[in-house]
Amino acid sequence: MISLILLCLIIFLVLLSGFLSGSETAITATSKARIIYQVKRGNQKAKYVLKILDNKDNVISSLLLSNNLVNILASSLATAFFYDLFGVKGIFYSTLIMTVVLVIFAEVLPKTYAINRPTRTALLISPIIFYLNKSLFIFIFFINLIVRSIFRKSENDPKNRDIQSEEELKGVIDLYRTSNPDYLTEKDMLQSILQLNDITVREIFTHRKNIFSIDSNLETKKIIDQINSSRFTRIPFWKKDPENIIGVLNVRTLNIDLKNHDKSKEIIFDKIIKPWFIPDTTNLLEQLVEFRKRNEHLAFVVDEYGELLGLITLEDIIEEIVGEIVDEIDIPENDFKLNNQGKIIVNGEKNLRDLYKSFDLEPPESESSTIAGHILEIAKKIPFYGEEVKDESFNYKVLSHSRKQISKIEISKN
Ligand code: ADP
Repeated sequence: MISLILLCLIIFLVLLSGFLSGSETAITATSKARIIYQVKRGNQKAKYVLKILDNKDNVISSLLLSNNLVNILASSLATAFFYDLFGVKGIFYSTLIMTVVLVIFAEVLPKTYAINRPTRTALLISPIIFYLNKSLFIFIFFINLIVRSIFRKSENDPKNRDIQSEEELKGVIDLYRTSNPDYLTEKDMLQSILQLNDITVREIFTHRKNIFSIDSNLETKKIIDQINSSRFTRIPFWKKDPENIIGVLNVRTLNIDLKNHDKSKEIIFDKIIKPWFIPDTTNLLEQLVEFRKRNEHLAFVVDEYGELLGLITLEDIIEEIVGEIVDEIDIPENDFKLNNQGKIIVNGEKNLRDLYKSFDLEPPESESSTIAGHILEIAKKIPFYGEEVKDESFNYKVLSHSRKQISKIEISKN
């Protein structure tokens, strides 16, 4: 009778051991991203899994502790059982049989099951494992104390964790693939979002030389003319020196015909809002958050001495994520039309051969098909704002660029 009870107990312990090893595999193999998705959909069990994953080290320790306890107990009971039947030889039989039984039923089978459906298994076992971990808290505390005193804290350094976490996410994005060929664009955008905090506003702003601004001391008519000639929505106003910005006018707030008004200047100055200055070391993520918080679209970038370097708008940051956005009025419709200063302003993506052809010239030998590519080839780097490069026929001046590409170019004939 006692032997039968012993046998039942051993079988129960082997099954329990299988449950614990399967749980350990499910918890290590499940995808946290999928669990978070399930939590958002209201799955109650997913909440337990998430709590377990957030406390993974401790839970794994609990599982290993209980699994070893169960395995050792099962083996000891088996030894007693076989010793009773076969005497000293029983110890040998017990070792042999228990090794095979434990490997097959308590390790390989449950782990294979769990690795093939980790999320489903994790959801199933999570409440039990969650409470098991709670009940073993005191033992785990001491185990961790010993482990930490050996490994110190280096692995728990928050900076390390941040880097690991970002690398993990970048890796997951790299793995992302769908049948829709546009997935590459999606992937690119996702990667760019993760780089926002590595890029400072200084790397992408519009240089002060290219800011379209208005002298606040001009007479009213001239101010109105300049406002009307501007293709920008937000126009800075300055006093005494173009770098001394006193405010910004959003032309959309002027919903009257200024020319027909006696008090035009007062109306304009009434709409001018205070400029917002930001340090050039601000990163794009911080700036994006600030733009949203303050409900503003334009900020002036200053260096550590408060000197104006340039301006940055929400669109500049969004372009870092989605790529160059060309406004309907950013660039003249006719590709290579000379403006009244005899210059052409084009997007860097325009075709180099087309430029030469429109002047009846023989295109140069160039590896790149775009004008931007051609400039990069000559300059061997992304030129600064306002920097100029030349080839046999044209002079190219960079009017704006993002960190990765030249977007607007002013071209004049040599
Ligand atoms: P808009 O709404 O006037 O088209 P955006 O905010 O969309 O302006 O910005 C488009 C590009 O023009 C950005 O690269 C931005 O840095 C630049 N920009 C915006 N306002 C000015 C300005 N007054 N002078 C020079 N560049 C500007």
